[in-house]
Amino acid sequence: MDNVRNLVGKTALVTGGNRGIGAAISRRLAAQGADVALTFARNKDQAETVAEQIRAAGGRGLAVAADATDAAGVRTAVEEVASEFGRIDILVNNAGYMDMSMPALEEVSLEDLDRTLDVNTRGAFLTAQAAARHMGEGGRIVNISSCLATHVPGPGMTVYAMSKAAISGLTLGLARDLGPRGITVNQVAPGSIDTDMNPADGPSADFQRSQNVFGRYGAADEIAHAVAYLVSPEAAFVTGASMAVDGGSNL
Ligand code: NDP
Repeated sequence: MDNVRNLVGKTALVTGGNRGIGAAISRRLAAQGADVALTFARNKDQAETVAEQIRAAGGRGLAVAADATDAAGVRTAVEEVASEFGRIDILVNNAGYMDMSMPALEEVSLEDLDRTLDVNTRGAFLTAQAAARHMGEGGRIVNISSCLATHVPGPGMTVYAMSKAAISGLTLGLARDLGPRGITVNQVAPGSIDTDMNPADGPSADFQRSQNVFGRYGAADEIAHAVAYLVSPEAAFVTGASMAVDGGSNL
């Protein structure tokens, strides 16, 4: 599917597209022909690197600052992308945060609660709300959820699980809101994926491997494959769906 150029003429916005899963998605959509704008919060150099890789491969790549905790900043970033690209065909709400120290319930700080919800939930809503103004028939939104939204295999994940469970409501609600305009809205729920957030050599990695039927971590590209399908013209009748890409961790 890497050689399929079914997104030529499409414009995409990938939040948190500078590294990890978001970078894999950005490169993948660009490889299929889309113009790609990718946002970052702190790591501008990585964002510029991904955008440059896209341009070097012959595509249009744009790095834009957008801290998901800053509502005005999110809106400004979306407007910048829409003005640069003319419109937005594809939005991938990927930016995310998890406190991997798995704090005990009584140790969860208000600051961490707010940050998790602001990035994972509120930021995704605000980005979709702003981007939808620039989307038309054939538009695609994919929200990156988590297998932890529907299955919590241990303590210390309450806030993150809550923030990602809300993505289901976001996906279903937006599918209803935007369906009449010919825009599909779906979510991908990754399992353990080897990234900075959740490295395959991290402290809980062996436990996580034991949770899926293959006994391994997934690769960021395996999430990008799923996103590539959901944003494709072939997925025009798929909306409100959740695609688990988790090696069967929820079985
Ligand atoms: P990484 O930690 O590797 O990357 C996180 C991304 O989110 C970065 O691009 C980062 O930008 C961005 N981000 C973090 N905080 C903010 C913020 N305040 N505003 C805007 N962007 C922000 O994570 P992954 O690639 O692993 O995760 C990508 C998505 O997949 C997330 O939604 C995550 O919850 C989800 N997921 C990941 C799993 C995994 O096992 N890796 C499993 C299930 C779901 P910057 O570098 O600029 O800070």
